[in-house]
Amino acid sequence: MAPPSKPDSFPSSDKFDTLVSIQIGTGEGQRTFEVFKGVFCFYSGYFTAALDGRFIEGREGVVKLPTEDPVVFELFRHWIHTRCFFESTLAPEILLSFDMIGKLWIFGDAHDIQMLQNVVADILVAKVWDRQFPSAEVVSYILENTAEGSHLRRLLMELAKPTNIDDTKADSTNIQKPEDIVTAFERLAIRYGSRRHGTGGHTPAFRRKMASKWWQCKWHVHRDGVTCFTEETCSGGER
Ligand SMILES: [Zn+2]
Repeated sequence: MAPPSKPDSFPSSDKFDTLVSIQIGTGEGQRTFEVFKGVFCFYSGYFTAALDGRFIEGREGVVKLPTEDPVVFELFRHWIHTRCFFESTLAPEILLSFDMIGKLWIFGDAHDIQMLQNVVADILVAKVWDRQFPSAEVVSYILENTAEGSHLRRLLMELAKPTNIDDTKADSTNIQKPEDIVTAFERLAIRYGSRRHGTGGHTPAFRRKMASKWWQCKWHVHRDGVTCFTEETCSGGER
């Protein structure tokens, strides 16, 4: 069965079964995590394939991911068990950095974990909508590690438009190329400051408009025929 991409799916208790080892990184920075095989396979198409009994990883119960970052994996492991990235009551758009959002999305992309990608994409939207903007370094990292036309790239290109931050501004930014995203976010950061938590100064009407526009499957990674919305809500929105 394909891994779920919507956050309303949870692994059943029988998925908390045998422990397997995931070795992340190399050298002195390498860390080994013990995880439940069933839970990891529930979320990830990659781990389902890697831990299949036909392969040595499945028979030995060890998966090696030398190029991955232990910090990113630890956040992922925490999330699959708690659906939070940190033990805190603060909103994820405050806790999770743009850098980590990018890295988690790219980790999800590489390991077929669509639910993770969709959750962090929504957090990315919430951050920008709250007038926090990614640095040039983070945008460049995302551009270097995602394919042209990927959901995350398209989302960044859309979020970098000033009309999505403030409805009193005319949309004069021309975002044609990936490099234009860096410049557009830099302009936004200068205009609004780099961090401004809370309501972002938006009116209730603007918030409603933005909510209907942004929390959509357009920016989510789903398999064909899957959507976060019911038939009723689908018919009313842009998709
Ligand atoms: Zn969706």
